[in-house]
Amino acid sequence: MSPQPSVVVPGIGVSPGRAVGPAAFLPEPVAEPPSGRRLPPGTDYAAQAALVAAASGRVHAALEVAAARADGESADLLHATAAIAADPTLVADAEQRVLADRLVPERAVWEAAESVAAQFEALGGLFAERVRDIEDVRDRLVAELTGRPAPGLPERDHPYVLVATDIAPALVATLDPAQVLGIVTGAGGPTSHTAILARARGITAVVAARGVEDAVAEGDLVLVDGGAGTVTVGPDDAQVAAARALAAQVRTFDGHGRTADGHRVELLANVGSPADALDAAAQGAEGVGLFRTEFAFLDREEAPDVDEQVAAYRQVLAAFPGRKVVVRTLDAGADKPLPFLAGEPEANPALGVRGLRTAVAHPEVLEDQLTAIARAAAAQDADVWVMAPMVSTVDEAQEFVAACTRHGLGTAGVMVEVPSAALLAGPILAHAAFASIGTNDLTQYTMAADRVLGSVAHLSYAWQPAVLHLVAATCRGGAQQGRPVGVCGEAAAVPALAVVLVGLGVTSLSMTPRALPDVAAVLAATTLDECRRLATLALAASTAADAQDVVRAGLPVLADLGL
Ligand code: PEP
Ligand code: MG
Repeated sequence: MSPQPSVVVPGIGVSPGRAVGPAAFLPEPVAEPPSGRRLPPGTDYAAQAALVAAASGRVHAALEVAAARADGESADLLHATAAIAADPTLVADAEQRVLADRLVPERAVWEAAESVAAQFEALGGLFAERVRDIEDVRDRLVAELTGRPAPGLPERDHPYVLVATDIAPALVATLDPAQVLGIVTGAGGPTSHTAILARARGITAVVAARGVEDAVAEGDLVLVDGGAGTVTVGPDDAQVAAARALAAQVRTFDGHGRTADGHRVELLANVGSPADALDAAAQGAEGVGLFRTEFAFLDREEAPDVDEQVAAYRQVLAAFPGRKVVVRTLDAGADKPLPFLAGEPEANPALGVRGLRTAVAHPEVLEDQLTAIARAAAAQDADVWVMAPMVSTVDEAQEFVAACTRHGLGTAGVMVEVPSAALLAGPILAHAAFASIGTNDLTQYTMAADRVLGSVAHLSYAWQPAVLHLVAATCRGGAQQGRPVGVCGEAAAVPALAVVLVGLGVTSLSMTPRALPDVAAVLAATTLDECRRLATLALAASTAADAQDVVRAGLPVLADLGL
């Protein structure tokens, strides 16, 4: 009997590498049991009520087993969720709803959990933060009572490739890369947070693989190629052996980015916290190309005071003595609203008061932040550069640089995330010391495609030739003024795109530290002339797919490295 031919489902590769393993489907979310579903007269109500306690016992035990396998924060979280599942008040309330209201057990559990959740919500603060956990327990109990698979990650005693229509970023954040070899989704986009997290966690991923849920069956062997953006169902033995050999290769970064002919390209890290900074330094990053300072402000009703900010920034700077650390001022608004900066509700928040624009109504927040950055910089040895997000005009750039100068921050630059800033890079860089292109937002604003919306994922793609033309325009502006132009959006982490960016004139690339070895390896195998030739081909392409194909075809090293 000849083996079944393999089927290839195309998608968008968002985290490189090759993963091979049996498919495991993410269970569909648990639906609310219809309201008012009651037990028929004559039912043994006590026996039905007892099912709740039994289900609670099993869910509690399963969560404790999972907690025992986990460590650190994940283990704490699972213990806490297990405790909610065994909560006697919740169980007693649900039992009462079976006995008194004659509700089916799953509906009784649903209503009892809703009532607990409402009480927690009303208490606010830390209690309100537990509501999501109560809903999680509710869903687990309903699944248990209705004989459905438990929601959340599939539990298998072997590693697998996770297949789903879409996966919430929060779930990706908790994945164990030893258990989940790769991720395939039918929906989702390349700049979605799911994709960003998969890359940060080093899990091979392909998104927007339309129809993959029908092409793959539970347990089928699948090969995920995160570089080419394909999912092969039923790969042959040679493909499996090649993928496993590549997956076993361990690459590291020697801390010195360069092309094959020695042209220097600084390879930096994107960080959001002191822990990230330590990790980035351990992985050889040459410095930090984007320090997202929002982390110090998230979940805060009031902005942290200057002392608190100084302490937080110093910890990040301390991880890179003598090295460049590019600190981005607060980027709030749109998908990152902060209570103390909230203004009038906006119909289009991505086009509203966000990033540097929040400083018009709240100049004191920017002033305090610059004070804190200057104090942290004076206390540490890092070479501190400062930049503002969402700069759209020459005036904004000039005012921001002037504010930094007043605080003694001599290297002040701008992020290029808005097409106007790319087109006016020359005049902007007459004032600013450097530019860093945020390709995530630049793509969103160039293509008019919300970066988190799966339905426009094909547009939110930095391979779009229009986006590449704006990168080229920014580099021309940088060359005119003799200023460096870096990239700190997700595009910098994609090895084939990194080659194009260098060919367009980008001087540094900042990315999740996990991507450093792959990007470094591909650059080290490619001369600057080759980068330029491939960049010219990409600019001449009329579609994103053509740009990607022509560049990948010119980089055989990608296949050699399994990227
Ligand atoms: C970007 O827009 O590319 C960027 C780096 O900023 P953020 O992802 O934080 O919006
Ligand atoms: Mg941005």
